[in-house]
Order: sequence, then structure tokens, then C-alpha cells
Amino acid sequence: MNLILMGLPGAGKGTQAERIVENYGVPHISTGDMFRAAIKDETELGLKAKSFMDAGELVPDDVTIGIVRERLSQSDCEKGFLLDGFPRTVAQAEALEEILSSLGRSLDYVLNIDVPEQLLMERLTGRWVSPTSGKTYHTVFNPPKVEGKCDVDGSTLIQRDDDKPETVKKRLEVNQSQAQPLIDFYSEKGYLKNINGNQDISKVFEDLNELLKGLHA
Ligand code: AMP
Repeated sequence: MNLILMGLPGAGKGTQAERIVENYGVPHISTGDMFRAAIKDETELGLKAKSFMDAGELVPDDVTIGIVRERLSQSDCEKGFLLDGFPRTVAQAEALEEILSSLGRSLDYVLNIDVPEQLLMERLTGRWVSPTSGKTYHTVFNPPKVEGKCDVDGSTLIQRDDDKPETVKKRLEVNQSQAQPLIDFYSEKGYLKNINGNQDISKVFEDLNELLKGLHA
């Protein structure tokens, strides 16, 4: 079960990754998590990655490809893997093909959780937080009893800069323009499977399951 999971911010990729890992026992390989752990542990890799991550840029391909090569050679990946956040560039996708072929393996699916941009905007800009109690709300999924006010202490809710429409829109655009060449790459090769992410979390997983049950972990 050799998988890549893709999806824009807010598409529900994290939740589906958890479920795939729980149900199929494949290791979850998130390059973002690996970089964050390396930074926390102050390793050489962490030092290399930190300045790029802090600047919101991609870590250079040679560094990123190197850690994925090493990770995929570990024995727990023999029965399969779920890559998340990698590849992010076509050069990484090409390197992945080479890594897999050197291990005598190939990809099964690139699972792309697809959600219309308008809906992602709604999901990602709905979060409001109380500056005093710290409690968070979502205008659609978890609204406060009184609009704009905290249930706990009545404070006026505020929106973090990261959750403001202009910021979210920009983030989605950047992610979309990064993802498109990969979607085209994998679509041409026949690996891409679009999953409708505009439905209940459990239904999204059912659809994934439908695809995955044909593969043997
Ligand atoms: P993520 O948690 O996947 O959003 O990744 C957080 C950050 O780690 C990104 O903004 C990049 O700086 C870096 N990163 C993660 N995966 C990659 C990758 N495949 N290529 C380059 N940089 C990456």
C-alpha cells in the first residue's frame, strides 16, 4: 500500500491520514512533521530546515529528498507508507519514482481530497477566539450562543490574522499553485484518485476505503 495523500489546507487531510494509518497500519510519513521534530531536537537537519520553514518557504529539494529516501528505506515501510506533504515539487516527484524503483517498489495511488475553494474559505475563515478565556469557536461548525461573544465570559471574539479572509485566500492560492503541477504529473501517469472531500468525514473515509480495500497492506 504505497500512497501519497494530497489536499489543500482545510480539506481534512490530517483526519483522513489518521484513519488510514489506524485502519491499515501503514506508517504516516509527513515531511513537515519530520522537519518540526528535527528543529525541536536541534539536529543538523533541523538547522538546515529552520530558516526556510520560518520564512514560509520550501526546504530545498536535496535536503527533503534525502530525508524521504532514508525514511522509505526503513523496515516499517516495507508493507507500505502514506506520504503526506511530499512530494511538493515535480523534482521531488521524479526523485520519488527513482527512490521507489531502487527499492523495487512503485506507487499505488495519489489520493487527492478535493474540496471547492469557496468551501475551504468557509472552513478556514470561520474560527474566532476569545482573547480572555482562550475558547475557540467556528461560525458554522461550533458557533457561540450569542454571535461574536464568548459563551464563557462574554468577551468579544477576535479573529487571528492567520484566519482572516485575505490571509487564507493567499495561503490557498500558494498551495493550489504548488499542488497543480503535481496533480497534472500524477494524473498523466494514472495514479491520481480524486476523493470528494465535500461530505461528512466518515463518508470521505468510506470512499477512501472503497479504493484501498483492493490493495493489500
Ligand atoms: P507542512 O506541515 O506539510 O505544511 O510543512 C511545513 C513546512 O515544512 C513547509 O512550509 C516547508 O517549509 C517544509 N516542508 C514540508 N514538506 C516539504 C517538502 N516536501 N518540500 C519542501 N519543504 C517542505
